[in-house]
Amino acid sequence: MYKAINKSSLRQLPCLLKRFQSTLVVAEHDNEKLTPVTLNAITAASKVGSEISCLVAGTNCAKVTEELSKVKGVKKILVAQHDAYKGLLPEELTPLILATQQQFGFTHICAGATAFGKSLLPRVAAKLDVAAISDIIEVKSPDTFVRTIYAGNALCTVKCNEKVKVFTVRATSFEAAPVQGGSAATEQVAPSSPVGISVWVEQNLSKSDRPELTSAKVVVSGGRGLKSGENFKLLYDLADKLNAAVGASRAAVDAGFVPNDLQVGQTGKIVAPELYIAVGISGAIQHLAGMKDSKTIVAINKDPEAPIFQVADYGLVADLFKAVPEMTEALKK
Ligand SMILES: Cc1cc2nc3c(=O)[nH]c(=O)nc-3n(C[C@H](O)[C@H](O)[C@H](O)COP(=O)(O)OP(=O)(O)OC[C@H]3O[C@@H](n4cnc5c(N)ncnc54)[C@H](O)[C@@H]3O)c2cc1C
Repeated sequence: MYKAINKSSLRQLPCLLKRFQSTLVVAEHDNEKLTPVTLNAITAASKVGSEISCLVAGTNCAKVTEELSKVKGVKKILVAQHDAYKGLLPEELTPLILATQQQFGFTHICAGATAFGKSLLPRVAAKLDVAAISDIIEVKSPDTFVRTIYAGNALCTVKCNEKVKVFTVRATSFEAAPVQGGSAATEQVAPSSPVGISVWVEQNLSKSDRPELTSAKVVVSGGRGLKSGENFKLLYDLADKLNAAVGASRAAVDAGFVPNDLQVGQTGKIVAPELYIAVGISGAIQHLAGMKDSKTIVAINKDPEAPIFQVADYGLVADLFKAVPEMTEALKK
């Protein structure tokens, strides 16, 4: 027998639908600290409007769980600890995510659009037989997301009809969720049996006292105009005065001036600091795709026609080998 639906129940439908939705945010961390992008992903998840759970998989991740429990908006933390989760390999994490999705019926699964999220979530989506949505910059509704295409030159609104929505989140497009005011419950989940098709051997991280590139408030980036890796010292000296991170164009990376984890752009990192100083960078669209959302852009280039001046708030037509040491000197005073 069917029950007639009246107008007022129809009006409650969006609320009821929200109640049946729940989002899993896969936490990125190093067992000691959360990677900041997880907080941006939690904000994106909160825009979906459903209940938020976070999955912390690792080897000894009590500190991360504690940090996460304070994050506003997180309802539950699922913790899975096993040696197989060393290095957070996608091959090992995927079965765990699938099992938690089955157990808790998550309608949305997301993570930051970092190397971690980009290698993990497409695998999860493939196993669920759904299409993943990468690098979203806005949540319009629980099934509609915005992402950039053509190197950031067009915005694409995607309506996702999949049973489970799997997406990665661009950190610079969402504020970090506050690490206070939360009181998430913690629940241990059984680790899935190790897959064993890949093994974590070691990781060599470059140590730096400078802020991390994607979360720095100030970024000083160098391009092919620097002419050599040694000349990047000019930028490191300036960066130290400004407490800035150092970035680079792809041409500078390809020429071997600096390692590729400094690359900003379409195929590098996306940054949106308060201040971005582009030194000896022409401003190709692929570079702009990674930095054009910076609040203030300063360009130093000897070519007045360089395209970087079209996006710059302040432009200095000058020889960088003269201008940069002068700026550093002025900041010492
Ligand atoms: C699929 C694809 C993806 C890409 N992804 C990226 C990406 O993620 N990031 C990225 O950056 N690029 C990317 N690129 C490459 C991009 O197209 C450009 O080739 C690159 O950004 C150019 O780097 P550049 O500005 O350092 O070098 P150039 O274009 O060679 O510019 C050097 C600039 O330095 C200036 N200069 C030289 N000497 C001085 C001096 N003494 N003082 C002041 N100025 C000086 C010159 O006037 C010039 O404007 C990609 C390309 C493709 C096809």
